[in-house]
Amino acid sequence: MTQETGGFAALGLNSNILAALTAVGYEEPSPIQAQAIPVILSGQDMIGQAQTGTGKTAAFALPILSKIDPAKKEPQALILAPTRELALQVATAFETYSKQMPGLNVVAVYGGAPMGPQLKAIRQGAQVIVATPGRLVDHLRRDEKVLSTIQYLVLDEADEMLKLGFMDDLEVIFEAMPASRQSVLFSATLPHSIRAIAEKHLRDPQHIKIASKTQTVTAIEQAHLMVHADQKHAAVLRLLEVEEFDALIGFVRTKQATLDLAAALEAKGYKAAALNGDIAQNQRERVIESLKDGRLDIVIATDVAARGLDVPRITHVMNVDMPYDPESYVHRIGRTGRAGRTGRALLLVTPRERRMLQVIERVTGQKVGEVKLPDAQQVLDARIKKLTNSLAPLVADAEASHGDLLDRLTADIGCSPRALAAALLRKATNGQALTLAEVQRDQPLVPGSGSSAPRERSERSERPDREGSRERRAPVPLAEGRARCRTALGARDGIAAKNLLGAILNEGGLTREDIGRIQVRESFSLVELPEEGLDRLLGKLKDTRVGGKPLKLRRYRED
Ligand code: AMP
Repeated sequence: MTQETGGFAALGLNSNILAALTAVGYEEPSPIQAQAIPVILSGQDMIGQAQTGTGKTAAFALPILSKIDPAKKEPQALILAPTRELALQVATAFETYSKQMPGLNVVAVYGGAPMGPQLKAIRQGAQVIVATPGRLVDHLRRDEKVLSTIQYLVLDEADEMLKLGFMDDLEVIFEAMPASRQSVLFSATLPHSIRAIAEKHLRDPQHIKIASKTQTVTAIEQAHLMVHADQKHAAVLRLLEVEEFDALIGFVRTKQATLDLAAALEAKGYKAAALNGDIAQNQRERVIESLKDGRLDIVIATDVAARGLDVPRITHVMNVDMPYDPESYVHRIGRTGRAGRTGRALLLVTPRERRMLQVIERVTGQKVGEVKLPDAQQVLDARIKKLTNSLAPLVADAEASHGDLLDRLTADIGCSPRALAAALLRKATNGQALTLAEVQRDQPLVPGSGSSAPRERSERSERPDREGSRERRAPVPLAEGRARCRTALGARDGIAAKNLLGAILNEGGLTREDIGRIQVRESFSLVELPEEGLDRLLGKLKDTRVGGKPLKLRRYRED
């Protein structure tokens, strides 16, 4: 048992799964995982009441993978999801957690893509099928035996499936599976229709719900910001520009995320460090001491690593990744507002996590108001205010100590005091952008933040995709200074946003912040790149290949 996966090992998961968890850097099971994993491992049917953000995917994926026999080349587990986006996401999660299980194959079955390859993958022995109900029924019509070997069934977001009108399809699917299977149902809400399904198709299910006691939060000013998952770093950097903090603790979910964000902050000149379960006790103490005495101003931590951390200087808590439940939220933000001081808590919310925000508001009995990402003018104002604050106290006695030197320097150089003061400012501010135009140029753009945020790729409120819906979506407004480019590589080529990002970063010589939104669609992808120097960049990427195929990135015009 490794130290990091201790919490998971105690739940009875097999060693391959534990190894994969160590690799992804999960330190501890989330509450829904701690409760659901032993039940699913025991073979009992289960109803789990949980929404996105609680870690529910791993809550069913881990025990099911633990039970699957990779040597048997036949479908053993079926996961039903309401939309293509969720199906793909769940399939990716299964792939991640089964990295150490050679011979384990996962197939995603959804509308809008040709049926042939899906069926072929099933016939070639994929043990896990992740499907949207409509398309799965289409497969059943062609081959009624497809589901005859299923031993584990999961209905993910069952309430959403019913809302999307999949009830009849679900009945067809239930009938096509062996009655001896184990069934697990996850749903954020349990309306009558869901209870009826459970009554009819589950056997003596155990009901799991993460109880939420009302929690009180006082003396802490709370706010949330809507942001896309891949824009979080840029959003954090921009928020920090305008937040007046003394010390700040940022919470993320994985060890890797602590390292990545702390490094990004350090690169921008913040005194920041990471705190995670891999960091030795003495080093951990050093980090906390440094935060206390001001050698560090920012610590980016996982929940586990921040346990017991009590530093009165902390004025801000930033929930960079959503906490798993309201209790953990309350616990996190309680790091500030200590000893009668007021504190500020910021929560980054991706479009998919809106519901989790509502749960937090309900449990804490408080509204967590929305803030918008500061614009270039606000960033500039904040920078000038900081400069003013740092210089103002010096003015009183600097003239007495350095006034004569000023006279001599202006005489020697032959310039006005204004010119000299300007030169000194330039030196003191170290090339920092301090005009509106410069700030606009430098600021990493964070498209789509704010309440009018366009939908995230993975957001749920899509129509069911059974009829192979076209890939039409509302056009996303393009941020200033950005150009949209298109490649013919898409999800059907096995491409994910991170593959495109990696290739463009490596071969284009860009930094992460240069690249805006990446949208991977079924048969193509769109990438936002800086307008400035675009032709040169496209030239550099001329021969780039992703996943073995030519990227062929071209400027894209919507109209
Ligand atoms: P879900 O609620 O299943 O959509 O999961 C939300 C996010 O939490 C996903 O990005 C997971 O990778 C992450 N996650 C799930 N379980 C854990 C865990 N025990 N530790 C850290 N991250 C986790």
